Amino acid sequence: MAATTLSNSFSPTADSTAIIIPGKPALTVSYTQLSAEILSFQKKLAKLGVTPEAAVSIALPNTYEFIVAFLAAAWQRGIAAPLNAAYKQEEFEFYIDDLSSAVALVPKGSFAKDGPAVRAARKYKAAIAECYWNGKEVVLDVKDEGKLKGKGSQKVEKAQPDDVALVLHTSGTTGRPKAVPLTHRNLTRTMKNIQATYELTPADRTMLVMPLFHVHGLLAGFLAPLYSGGSVIVPPKFSASEFWDDFITHKANWYTAVPTIHQILLKNPPPTTKPKIRFIRSCSSPLSPTTFHQLEKTYNAPVLEAYAMTEAAHQMTSNPLPPGKRQPGSVGLGQGVDVKILDGEGNEVPQGSEAEICIKGENVTKGYLNNPDANKSSFTKNGYFRTGDQGKKDKDGYVIITGRIKELINKGGEKISPIELDNVLARHPAVSEAVSFAIPDEMFGQDVGVAIVLKPGQNLGADELKGWVADKLAKFKVPKQVYFTDNMPKTATGKIQRRIVADTMMKQDK
Ligand code: ATP
Ligand code: MG
Repeated sequence: MAATTLSNSFSPTADSTAIIIPGKPALTVSYTQLSAEILSFQKKLAKLGVTPEAAVSIALPNTYEFIVAFLAAAWQRGIAAPLNAAYKQEEFEFYIDDLSSAVALVPKGSFAKDGPAVRAARKYKAAIAECYWNGKEVVLDVKDEGKLKGKGSQKVEKAQPDDVALVLHTSGTTGRPKAVPLTHRNLTRTMKNIQATYELTPADRTMLVMPLFHVHGLLAGFLAPLYSGGSVIVPPKFSASEFWDDFITHKANWYTAVPTIHQILLKNPPPTTKPKIRFIRSCSSPLSPTTFHQLEKTYNAPVLEAYAMTEAAHQMTSNPLPPGKRQPGSVGLGQGVDVKILDGEGNEVPQGSEAEICIKGENVTKGYLNNPDANKSSFTKNGYFRTGDQGKKDKDGYVIITGRIKELINKGGEKISPIELDNVLARHPAVSEAVSFAIPDEMFGQDVGVAIVLKPGQNLGADELKGWVADKLAKFKVPKQVYFTDNMPKTATGKIQRRIVADTMMKQDK
C-alpha cells in the first residue's frame, strides 16, 4: 500500500477487527465500521466549523471516541492535538493557547462539572464539545461554539500528504515542551517503518497500554498496527491487574511499553495459562540489560528495544526480530531512517566514537512551531536533525545511547554518562531503581548524585553502593551523593526527568 495520508492508510472495506474495547461486553469494531464512523464524525466536525489547519484539542483518555475523533480531525485536514486528560487547568491553557485550538473535545459530563479543560478552552474561546460513544455512534455534543460560531459548513475536506495532521509537544524532559508538527507523510512513513521492522500483519493483535497523547502509544501502539490491518485492544488505561486477563481474552500477541511498565508487569505475571507472545517492544526510556534478560526469560519471547522521539514521528531505530541479533543495552538499527553519529560541525565521527545522534528521513518533522532559534540549531548543514542524544555505533552499526547532551554530567571536563551509571547501579541486587544526575560542586563545577529506590525489605548503605560502582567503573564516576527515596518522580508516560529527580532529592536533603 502506498499510503501517504492517514485516510488511505487502511482498508475501508475489510471485515476484520480493527478495534476491541475490553468490557462486559467488549466493543468490537471492524475496519468497515470504523471507516463509516470516522466519515460520520468528520461531517459533524465540518458542521461545527473545523476547516483546514484548525487545531482540534482532544482531551479524552484512550477510548473509542478518542480514536474516531483523532482520525476524523486529520481526515478533515484539521490538526489533531491530543492532550493528557489528566492535565490541570494551567497545562490545558498552555497547550490550547499554544495552538490557538478551534475546539476542545472533552469527556461526557465535563461541561456541567466545569472541568479544567473546559475552563481553559473557554478562556481562549475554543469551541467545547463533549465526545462519547452512546452504544450506537460516537456523539459530538457541542456545548459552546466559541470562536467557531457561524463557521459551520457541510464540506468534507480531503487531506493531502504534506498537511500537518498532528501536533504534539515534546515531553519537556530537558526544557520547556516544544510544539512538533507532523504531516500525514511523516506519520505514514513511521507506520510503514514500524510495520516492516516487526513484520506486522493482519494476524497480529496488540494490547495498547501507552497513552494515545504521545507518539509511542499513538504510532507504535495504534497507527502502525492499523496500517498493518491488525487489531488493537484499547483498555481505558494501563492496569497491571487487568493487563494479562485482557491480553489472553482478546488473544493479543505483542505489546509496546516503557521500561517502567515492563517492570510493573514482571511483578504481576500472567496467570497459569501462558500467553503466546510473538515479541515485546520497549521504547522511550533506556531498558536496562537486567530487565531485558528478565523479560525474555519470563515471557519466552524476543524483547526488541527501540529508540524514538516526537520529532521523528516516533521510531528511529530498533533491534530486529530473530534471526536478527538483539543487543541488550543498544537500541538497534535505523529502519527506513538514516541514522548517523555527527560532530558539532555535522561531520561523521569514526565508528565507536561518541557524538550526537542525528537522523534524516521522511518521518522527521520540518521544524518546531514558532521556534526559529530551535529550528536553526536543530538541523546540520546537510539537513540531518540533531536529536540532542549522545551516542555511538558498535562494529555492526547498532546504536548505543550514552546520554542526553544536556544531561551529561560534566565533572571538571570529564563527561559522565548518567545512563551507564544507572545501569551499573541497577545491577546491584538490593536496588530497584537508580537515577543519576549532576549536582553542583565547588571544585569540579558538577559532580555525581544518584537517587536510589531499594527493593522491599533491603538495606544498603551509601558507602557500600559507592564501593559497588568503584569496582566496575573509573573512580571519577563514583557518586559523591547517594539519596535514598521511596518515590522516584516520573512523567505521565513513566519517563524519568533527571532535572526534577535532582531538584527533589537535593531539596529533600536540606
Ligand atoms: P524534550 O525534548 O522536551 O526534552 P523528550 O526528549 O523527553 O523531551 P520525547 O520526544 O518524548 O521528549 O522523547 C524522546 C527522547 O527519549 C529521545 O531523544 C531519547 O533521549 C529518549 N529515548 C527514547 N527511546 C529511548 C531508549 N530506548 N533509550 C534511551 N532513551 C530513549
Ligand atoms: Mg527531546
